[in-house]
Amino acid sequence: MTDTNRIPLACVIGAPVSHSRSPALHGYWLRRYGLRGHYIPMEIAQADLKEALHLLPKLGFVGANVTIPHKEAVLALADIVTDRAALIGAANTLIFRKDGRVHADNTDGSGFVANLRQHAPHWNPAAGPAAVFGAGGAARAVVAALIETGAPEIRIANRTRPRAEAIRSDFGAKVVVHDWVQAANMLDGARTVVNTTSLGMTGKPEFRVPLDALAADMVVNDLVYAPLRTRLLIEAEAAGCSVVDGLGMLLHQAAPGFERWFGKRPEVDDDTRRAVLAP
Ligand code: NAP
Repeated sequence: MTDTNRIPLACVIGAPVSHSRSPALHGYWLRRYGLRGHYIPMEIAQADLKEALHLLPKLGFVGANVTIPHKEAVLALADIVTDRAALIGAANTLIFRKDGRVHADNTDGSGFVANLRQHAPHWNPAAGPAAVFGAGGAARAVVAALIETGAPEIRIANRTRPRAEAIRSDFGAKVVVHDWVQAANMLDGARTVVNTTSLGMTGKPEFRVPLDALAADMVVNDLVYAPLRTRLLIEAEAAGCSVVDGLGMLLHQAAPGFERWFGKRPEVDDDTRRAVLAP
């Protein structure tokens, strides 16, 4: 039963969650719009996930974001899974419906597209091939979005090649798998370039793919947002490419959940970026 007088609660569930910027983001939007509600980080072990999803709605939670390691597991526990979450094989946004059912969606792909459209307004995914580095959960969302927005060919390379092959078999013939050791070849003639690996992230190894083939007509995006300016983006900017950092995707993927839980579509603007970057 849902009590309409209850203050709506939402959370990010994962293990660990202390690194997550989502509480700062949603907390900022709640304050900015003067809305009733709270958003908290909630560390939940894998063994407790099923019980937690059962309990959270009863405790007044209207939804949750999902992060590592639960993004795949929540699909099997949700009552309703959107087509895109099923295709991607992971969910990042849960809505706890008034009838008690758990609805799972994936907004990473729409966040990726909204970020590029905002920061590289001339970006035209249909203009030529896309080169995607990595084949994890984020890559699957990016590939789904690129197909949806009309990219004619999606080249993909991953250290563990079978994960890239799985994307090809799930998403079809537009996906062309390249060897990780020759990943730089994917840049030749590409118009959209995306790093979806964790390489280049603070505390992780550097992204070392040779970048000599970067050209000025490319839109280059790194999903890594800590640091904001990665080696890929610095070199792409030097080559005259349009560059887009990963922070905007984080902000845009969060907006649909916020709207469903708290009733207001939040703006993603410079103030939002500043609020999330604040220590
Ligand atoms: P994931 O499923 O664990 O995938 C990680 C990817 O990085 C895989 O392709 C993996 O290759 C690759 N990788 C990791 N270490 C590597 C290494 N030493 N050498 C070569 N490749 C390596 O994670 P994910 O959820 O897809 O996230 C990937 C990145 O995107 C993370 O940095 C995450 O923070 C970022 N992300 C950002 C946003 C945003 O809103 N900006 C949203 C989602 C994710 P293997 O398959 O060979 O392991």
